[in-house]
Amino acid sequence: MKDCIFCKIASGEIQAKKVYEDSDVVAFLDADPVNVGHMLVIPKKHFTKISDMSSNDLGKLMPAINKLSKAILKLADGLNVMQNNNKVAGQAIMHVHFHLIPRYEGDGYVFNWKHATGVTEKENEAFLKKIQTFLK
Ligand SMILES: [Zn+2]
Repeated sequence: MKDCIFCKIASGEIQAKKVYEDSDVVAFLDADPVNVGHMLVIPKKHFTKISDMSSNDLGKLMPAINKLSKAILKLADGLNVMQNNNKVAGQAIMHVHFHLIPRYEGDGYVFNWKHATGVTEKENEAFLKKIQTFLK
């Protein structure tokens, strides 16, 4: 995609600190990391969201994420793998990417996940029924 910064990194038009690359995938250090070694794993082909990808396309990413996770866990105490879709979920670059965030004992990084925000059993049951219609 013409004006996509991640497409430009994938093509080499923009330089990045590449960690890993194969014919379908590039991983590079995040330019604005939340922790040492925070990297992004992207498909070379442009997709906006994970739901735009076929299982086959997604399947090309997972071996790289697996390989990188194994290496990260030799260097760090833990690892968060995150993938955001749409602005409301925190997606800043509209090209599918997985965040691999190494975690270190005492790093102080916390996710601000709020629980018990008033979700009712009825709302969850209704969601469950609806989503099952899309999974058939
Ligand atoms: Zn792109």
